[in-house]
Amino acid sequence: MRVRIVGGGLAGSEAAWQAATAGVPVTISEMRPVRPTAVHKTDRLAELVCSNSFRGDKLDNAVGLLKEEMRRLGSLVMRAAEASRVPAGAALAVDRERFAETITDTIANHPLITVVREEAASIPPSSEQEPVIVATGPLTSDALSADIAALVGGNHLYFYDAISPIVLADSIDREKVFRASRWGRSLGSSFDKLRTSGGPACGVDDGEGDYLNCPFTREEYERFYDALVAAESATVHDFDKERFFEGCLPIEVMAHRGRDTLRFGPMKPVGLVDPRTGRVPYAAVQLRQDNLAGDHFSLVGFQTQIKWGEQARVLRMIPGLEQAEFVRFGMVHRNTYVNGPDVLDETWQVRRRPTLFFAGQMSGVEGYVESAASGLIAGLNAAAMAKGEPFSTPPRTTAIGALAYYVSHADPKHYEPSNITFGIMPPLEKAPKDKLKKKLAIADRALADLQQWLELRRAQHERSARSELVEGRAL
Ligand SMILES: Cc1cc2nc3c(=O)[nH]c(=O)nc-3n(C[C@H](O)[C@H](O)[C@H](O)COP(=O)(O)OP(=O)(O)OC[C@H]3O[C@@H](n4cnc5c(N)ncnc54)[C@H](O)[C@@H]3O)c2cc1C
Repeated sequence: MRVRIVGGGLAGSEAAWQAATAGVPVTISEMRPVRPTAVHKTDRLAELVCSNSFRGDKLDNAVGLLKEEMRRLGSLVMRAAEASRVPAGAALAVDRERFAETITDTIANHPLITVVREEAASIPPSSEQEPVIVATGPLTSDALSADIAALVGGNHLYFYDAISPIVLADSIDREKVFRASRWGRSLGSSFDKLRTSGGPACGVDDGEGDYLNCPFTREEYERFYDALVAAESATVHDFDKERFFEGCLPIEVMAHRGRDTLRFGPMKPVGLVDPRTGRVPYAAVQLRQDNLAGDHFSLVGFQTQIKWGEQARVLRMIPGLEQAEFVRFGMVHRNTYVNGPDVLDETWQVRRRPTLFFAGQMSGVEGYVESAASGLIAGLNAAAMAKGEPFSTPPRTTAIGALAYYVSHADPKHYEPSNITFGIMPPLEKAPKDKLKKKLAIADRALADLQQWLELRRAQHERSARSELVEGRAL
């Protein structure tokens, strides 16, 4: 009895923790540092490759609900995130070093988990006693990608995402920027009612938090816009051919869609009152603290593929960033994922090979939390399979179940990886008119249904353990 996991990222680490907690020995193959990826910088498990935000953390937000469900399912990723939390208003953001260290140490010290530093060039053999979880993420190595493509056929897809730059805190001109949360909202604030739902991916403004805001006048915005659309960018030349996730578009691609597109996207000023003028600026760029020490800030929603020299020149036109020192520039990266509805069941099993599970971003979800959530269920189910116990996925009325349902039941012809949103959860039979109350009612239903599922599962496992005992005695 053993669960083999390929990939020690967010999904693989969570899956390993869940399986080992269920008493099943686990082996994780992680290729770093033997074979690096284009974006990971360390050899740690669960390294966050871009934003340090796990997005909204309240129950009136779908990703907040997903996190609460994960906590109730004993998630390691959630526990490590709490232990490395940094201020980010109503969002959950973490010190990335401390986060990955906590996960790496916990996994390394677990008596049932073995971490092997090797690249799996093909999908390992799997059986009911030794199921396999492949959780190799958006940057799955080429050899393994080829083997996955051979298994799933033409449904193995690629697309591209882009990431935001990070600046040194000391290099931000504090005379020009102002600290504020959108709508004055931070954890526990009285502006809770103004929350929006969902929350986009890739660090795009989640509309909440303790941010530094760079305010633009109309003239400054016009100058910045002209420089941005003229800047040299591989993306813009090819952007008709590339396939970007809509929630994670490079700023230059958005800018090319229209002069004001950015003012309604990552540069939207609504709800940001400059305390010095008492007014909302014409546009604003938000900077979010990126580590516990507070010496790095990322430009929220500013993923870009502008060439680095040009990037520094254009971004230094942002008020407050004239002298900015860049810790990391924005860039574009590959994203590998399978067409979930063609390939997977809602248990995260591969339909044509049920002893194999896919989890994380390569299974067709989008985002850190969603990746870890799919790893959580794949880990629980693979462990149950190895023990000969029944397994299932929480109902569709839960966020974690809705995600599994979306991945396995969306229209395969137009499949796009999704963040969790209330939109992919079934509507309430009797929904309150008030939007906030409606979201909270969906969350209440989800948590009650999750509890019921947990109790049912516990009872099934107890029954299965009892019948095994009886069979054992009969032998
Ligand atoms: C550049 C970039 C930026 C992103 N930004 C964000 C963001 O800001 N916010 C957000 O929510 N999501 C973001 N994502 C999307 C996604 O949520 C993350 O990639 C997340 O880490 C996915 O978790 P995972 O466990 O599926 O993959 P990963 O965390 O990438 O883990 C996969 C692991 O598998 C290993 N591996 C790969 N191939 C093999 C092999 N053949 N053998 C053994 N090991 C292998 C890798 O080294 C890696 O450690 C981003 C993705 C990328 C690539």
